[in-house]
Amino acid sequence: MGGGDRAGTREPQGLVRAAGPGVARTVENAVCTFCGCTCDDIALRVEGGRIVEARRTCALGDDWFRGQPATDGLAARVEGRPATAEEAIDAAARMLAAARSPLIYGLVDASGEGQAAAVAVADLLGATLDTASSAAHEASMCAFQHRGKTSATLGEIKNRADCVVLWGVAPESSHPRFFERFVRAAGLYVSGPRTVIAVADAGAAASREADRTIPIPVEREFETLWALRAIVRGRRLGPEAEAAIGLPVAELEELAAQLKRCRYGVWVYDAEPPAERRDPGRAHAILALAEALNEHVPFAALGLRGRGNRVGAESVVASNTGYPFAVNFGRGYPRFGPGEFTAPEVLTRGEADAALIVGCDPTEHLPEPALHVLARVPTAVVDFRDSPLARRARAAILTATYGVAAPATVYRMDEMALRARAALESQLPSDADVLGRLADRVRALRPADGRP
Ligand code: SF4
Repeated sequence: MGGGDRAGTREPQGLVRAAGPGVARTVENAVCTFCGCTCDDIALRVEGGRIVEARRTCALGDDWFRGQPATDGLAARVEGRPATAEEAIDAAARMLAAARSPLIYGLVDASGEGQAAAVAVADLLGATLDTASSAAHEASMCAFQHRGKTSATLGEIKNRADCVVLWGVAPESSHPRFFERFVRAAGLYVSGPRTVIAVADAGAAASREADRTIPIPVEREFETLWALRAIVRGRRLGPEAEAAIGLPVAELEELAAQLKRCRYGVWVYDAEPPAERRDPGRAHAILALAEALNEHVPFAALGLRGRGNRVGAESVVASNTGYPFAVNFGRGYPRFGPGEFTAPEVLTRGEADAALIVGCDPTEHLPEPALHVLARVPTAVVDFRDSPLARRARAAILTATYGVAAPATVYRMDEMALRARAALESQLPSDADVLGRLADRVRALRPADGRP
């Protein structure tokens, strides 16, 4: 969720180009899926089949539209050679239907409709299905399942929150329009400026948007959250607690009192932290603290999510199977197995004998040992981006970019579903079309007894 200093809305410069046929027009309320803000107020000017201007994007969104692949040219490959989409779909179906234990992986850069079709393919194959965001988000998801979550939509936060706590995050870098759209914008029920408090790793730069910053030792993150929860619940902490958290208790007491005085608060945290901060206790403690604060004032927990439609991947997989990731259909019904059916474990145990990669670059998500195994497994790829993996895959089908060159349902980080219209026309099929046809082909090759 990087982005450095390339933040701030660009109005209206930002030349964006992509190939494809079409007539001159302006597409209002286009949706940017680059980060979890999923801004739906973008205006795109399309001329001669190209996006020539993008308004209200930030720098990251501008790059997203400018970096779109050409919508003409090669559509598919079989064994590295050019092929029609139909030939590649048939080759992928034959490879997957012949496998005993296929893995379907990715889904984070695909439409909601494509994600649902990928679930159908996994069901037909008795496959294991995992999202590319599961490794980073697993701790948050499991804490959510165990504890529940006091959440809110971004609209509610904009209209009601008068106190925003940034727990180890600086959204102006990762989600550049977060403050403009949801914190600094006028809210229906917020009068006057909102209070923004950053609680940040003592060794790292805190958000520039914060009115106040409290540095904490990042290695004591869990202890600090739990101590703050105890104070919110009315406990008095002694010197031994101070030694454990490495911070004066009085400072946490002052923070707790400030939070309890607000009218509506929101706790903003990184729901997909780097590997060293994926302690399940951390996610659990954040949700427990928000729950404790709700005994005093309405307080929502908002996890910042990364690029693409990864919230959609979890929502669509959960709505179709009951589980958000790491689902195995091997027994004919969905089973949930974090750490068992998550892709790195399935691959490194050598269990996958074929793989279908949908809407993701595995090199961005899988650890090295799993990537080494994946390189030896027969693979099919369905993606809007060409990649080294697609070039060496048994079958690869390039699709129109979801939400830009094909209409798509995408999910914001608050789990609101948005409909993204296509600004560009494309010769390429949508991911939903390709995966739907793949499901049909698998169904024909692999009848109900599950044998090819
Ligand atoms: S804030 Fe995020 S969704 Fe909005 S324009 Fe920037 S990158 Fe796109």
